[in-house]
Amino acid sequence: MHHTTQYTRTITATSNESTTHGTIEVLEFSEQGRVKRAWVMALKCLGATALCVLIPVAHFLLVPLGLLVVTPIMTIYTFRVRTKIISACVDCPACHKPLNVLTSQERYPIYENCGSCHRQIALSKTA
Ligand SMILES: [Zn+2]
Repeated sequence: MHHTTQYTRTITATSNESTTHGTIEVLEFSEQGRVKRAWVMALKCLGATALCVLIPVAHFLLVPLGLLVVTPIMTIYTFRVRTKIISACVDCPACHKPLNVLTSQERYPIYENCGSCHRQIALSKTA
């Protein structure tokens, strides 16, 4: 049973009037995959909360915050993530250096700043 599917999507990078084309590798989580990721996140948050018990005085605040706020929010957030960008291969349309894509959520348009020329580049799905 596959929890995640990896696929390649073609994208267009735009800066002013110039465009380049490239690809991104995306992981898509199935329902079971998302449930599993959410559980792992919940356990990590609970683990971090458990460590706060060791902090004198501050634990009165940190432990309830961890249990009631951070853990549910992070767990729900993780469950809602359906896709994740794992790598990108596209050149900056302005200076033609490889563009570093730091965004992990696949929600278009994606804005990235070029590390070489510092222009803002918009990435969109190639139709
Ligand atoms: Zn550039």
